[in-house]
Amino acid sequence: MSVPRVVSVAAASPAQRAGLRVDDELLAVDGRVPRDVIEYRLLVDEADPELEIRRGHEQLTVRLRKEAGEIPGIEVSSAVFDRVRTCDNHCEFCFIYQLPKGMRRSLYLKDDDYRLSFLYGNFTTLTRFTELDLERVLTERLSPLFVSIHSTDPGLRSKMLRNPRGATSLRWLRALLDGGIEVHGQIVVCPGVNDAGALETTLAGILDEYSDLATVACVPLGVSDHTTEASMRPHTVAEAGNVVDLVEEWQQLCLGSIGRRLVYAADEYYLLAGRPFPPVDAYDGFPQHENGIGMARAFEAAYHGDVTAAHGVAPGFFSWVDGAPAAGYRAPRAEAGPAPRPHTPLASHRRAAGAEHTPIAILTGEYGAAVLDPLLGDTMAHVRVVPVRNHFFGGNIAVTGLMTGPDIARVLHGQPSGTRFLLPDVCLSEGRFLDGSTVADLPRPVEVVASDGYSLRLALRGGGQAPEVAPPSPSRPTPVAVALGEPR
Ligand code: SF4
Repeated sequence: MSVPRVVSVAAASPAQRAGLRVDDELLAVDGRVPRDVIEYRLLVDEADPELEIRRGHEQLTVRLRKEAGEIPGIEVSSAVFDRVRTCDNHCEFCFIYQLPKGMRRSLYLKDDDYRLSFLYGNFTTLTRFTELDLERVLTERLSPLFVSIHSTDPGLRSKMLRNPRGATSLRWLRALLDGGIEVHGQIVVCPGVNDAGALETTLAGILDEYSDLATVACVPLGVSDHTTEASMRPHTVAEAGNVVDLVEEWQQLCLGSIGRRLVYAADEYYLLAGRPFPPVDAYDGFPQHENGIGMARAFEAAYHGDVTAAHGVAPGFFSWVDGAPAAGYRAPRAEAGPAPRPHTPLASHRRAAGAEHTPIAILTGEYGAAVLDPLLGDTMAHVRVVPVRNHFFGGNIAVTGLMTGPDIARVLHGQPSGTRFLLPDVCLSEGRFLDGSTVADLPRPVEVVASDGYSLRLALRGGGQAPEVAPPSPSRPTPVAVALGEPR
C-alpha cells in the first residue's frame, strides 16, 4: 500500500483552511483507508470529512469544513494507493516488450487495471476482472471504460493475448454493457494475425454481440527495432489500404443497422495507405481522439479556428499503442481542452505583422510532418516543418508523442541559428522525454507548444525571438497529480 501524499493545496479551499500542507500523508478519511483516488474522491465528497494525516513523525486528525459536493482543494501524488493491477497477458505486439533497456522503471509497468482505464483512458483486456470489480464499477458508475478486444474469436483472442482467459474475458464486456457502462473498444490490428478475414469476423462479431459499444478503434501495431517477436511486422501499404476499406465498409453497414458508424480507423492507416482523411463529420465528435482517431482532422479544424475541435492531443504518450501504463505516460482524462477564443484569420494577422518574420521550425514526428506540411502549404514562407526520424525506437515508430531527446538533439544540431523552434508538448511527460532527458538538455532553445491546432496557430502568430532559456516543463499538469473531488 502506498500512502498518498499531498502535492498541492488550493488557496482559500477547505483543505487550506483546515491547515493541510504539501507533503502531508493522507492515511484515512472518516476511518476508512481508501484503495485509490476514486474511493477517496467519494469519501471526501461528503460534508465535513475527517482526515487522518501523518506529518513527519506526528499523526493528526483534521476535519475539513465543507458542504457535501464541495471540492476540498487537495491534489495527491498517485491515483492508486494499493497496487496497480498488472497485466498477466504476454501479447506479441505489446509495446512495453519493445522498449529499449535502461528507461525509467515506471515505463515498463504493464497495467491491466480498470481503475486506470476509468481515470486515464488506458485500455484493459479484462482478463483480471472479477465479480467484485463488476459490482464496484456498476455501483460507483465508473464510466466510460476502455477495453481491448483485438478479436471476438475466443481462440484467436487468447492466442493474441497469450492467456487462456483471453478466450472468456469478453463476458465482462457484455456485463459492463448490460449494466449501462459506456465502453469504448480497441482492436490492435496485426498483419497476418487478426487483419483481413479475421478483422471482418471480429467486426461482424462486434455488431452481433457488442453493438452497444460506444466506439471501436482499429489501430495499427507499433513495431520498434527492439521487438523479439519474429511474426510482428508493420503493415504494407496494401494492407493499410485494406483496413481502411474494411472499416469504411463496416461503417456503412453499422449506419444501416444501428444508425451510427461505431468503428473507426486510426489516422495512421490513412497516412500509410496514402488516402485522404475522412471529413470532420465522419468522426462523430472525435470520441477516440486520444487513440489516434481523427487527430489530423481535429488538428486541422482547430488550426483553422474551429475552437470546438481544439481537442489537442490529450496528455500522455503511447496514445496509439496498446499497453500504456499510467505512471509516466498519461495524465487524467478529466483535463479540460483549450478555452474557446475568438477566431482571427491567420492571413490577416500575417499582413498586420508585416513582411519580416523570424524563421520558425516546427519539430514533429514523421507522421506529424505528413499532416502539417499540407496544412501549412506554402502560405507561410518563414515556417518550416522539420520531421524528426525516430532512431530511439526505430521500426515503424513515427508518431510525435514518441519523439525523444536524442533524436530531437540530432536534428537540432543541423539547424540554422536565429530560428524559433516549436516543440509539441505531447512528447513530454512531467517535463521529460521518454529517455529521461529534458528540453534543457537540447542543443538549442525550443518553445514547448500545446499539441493542438489552435495552440500552434497562436505560437506561429507570436512571431517573437526564440527564448533565451528553454522552458523547463510543459504547462500541463503532472500525470500522477490527481485533483480530489474535481468534477470529471
Ligand atoms: S499489450 Fe497490453 S494486454 Fe498485452 S501484454 Fe502488453 S500491457 Fe498486457
